[in-house]
Amino acid sequence: METGIPFDKALQWALAGEAPDLDWLTPLLACSDQDAPSLYRAADRVRAASVGDAVHLRGLIEFSNICRKNCKYCGLRSSNLDLARYRLSPDQIVRAAQEAAQLGFGSVVLQSGEDPAFTAEGLGRIIRDIKSTTPLAVTLSVGERPVSDYRSWRQAGADRYLLRIETTDPDLFHRLHPDDDLEQRKACLYALKELDYQLGSGVMVGLPGQTPTMLARDVLWLHGLGAEMIGVGPFIPHPDTPLRDEQGGTVGQTLRLVAVLRLAFPYTHIPATTAMGALDPEGREKALQAGANVVMPNVTPPEVRPKYALYPGKICLGEGAPFCRTCITARIHSIGRSVATGPGHVWRKVPPSR
Ligand code: SAH
Ligand code: SF4
Repeated sequence: METGIPFDKALQWALAGEAPDLDWLTPLLACSDQDAPSLYRAADRVRAASVGDAVHLRGLIEFSNICRKNCKYCGLRSSNLDLARYRLSPDQIVRAAQEAAQLGFGSVVLQSGEDPAFTAEGLGRIIRDIKSTTPLAVTLSVGERPVSDYRSWRQAGADRYLLRIETTDPDLFHRLHPDDDLEQRKACLYALKELDYQLGSGVMVGLPGQTPTMLARDVLWLHGLGAEMIGVGPFIPHPDTPLRDEQGGTVGQTLRLVAVLRLAFPYTHIPATTAMGALDPEGREKALQAGANVVMPNVTPPEVRPKYALYPGKICLGEGAPFCRTCITARIHSIGRSVATGPGHVWRKVPPSR
């Protein structure tokens, strides 16, 4: 443990609604395997009392694996020449979104590598087509772009944006991102907030050299940012990247962070991420029982799914969208939870009715 406060006292402080503080965040993030189940149960109770039992579904459309960046951890990095690249056509993207709407999703996430072929205008047209033909909330996750692009997509109707900070530790960020700058990433997030996107960020867990104290500082930074959706997942080493021999994150480390996030952000949307399902077949259910309230089933056309290889061992590669919808619903019901309907917007001042 990295600070002097015992686990029980740290949990008491968290449950008393103390503002997030390294004093209680760090011991909870560094807690023993013996203490971890009480942390998860406490977060599960807070989740039930604040955002309720319904789990929000977001249909994930991975529309291009072409990326101009070279993040050290990611299988889509431009230096990975062993990956067959693809780009869905605007029509294919809009059709995938329409299928998601027909399957009862209230929201889709359009995610890709940083692919310059999707210009502000081109992606704007896709957003407009989706918004004018479906009732879907649209989330973008396409990395760092000029503020003018973010503005035009917001004007086209995009509701939300996901951009993980990955880590707020300056040295670690610098080592992982040969072509990114931490302050620039932060500036993108502030700009997105200013443009009134519902704002999502998050980090990877188990990065080389990362400590519980660094994760605690990440939580404080996300709190200061006012993140409204926070996605965290284990770092999974990809064999075709420079980090191939690193250890990677674990389900246990990630569950601790999910639980701590729920204690620090009672009303935030927290997904049970797909990377959790890659490490453990029950990983997403475990996250849903440790504070998470969102799942992002894949609605990408199955023929391209294996090529969106951020990390090895991705789940649900061969299945179509209807299968994934049924499978995830059964998993949610199996832990006594329900599936939310509607767009599932973030909760701001007044919680919307469930
Ligand atoms: N290009 C966009 C969106 C795609 S990457 C962006 O970078 O924001 C989406 C997320 O995948 C990243 O934020 C990162 O946290 C995660 N990711 C990439 N490589 C990973 C790996 N090896 N293990 C776990 N997660 C990874
Ligand atoms: Fe590209 Fe995103 Fe992967 Fe970085 S994490 S290489 S920006 S897809």
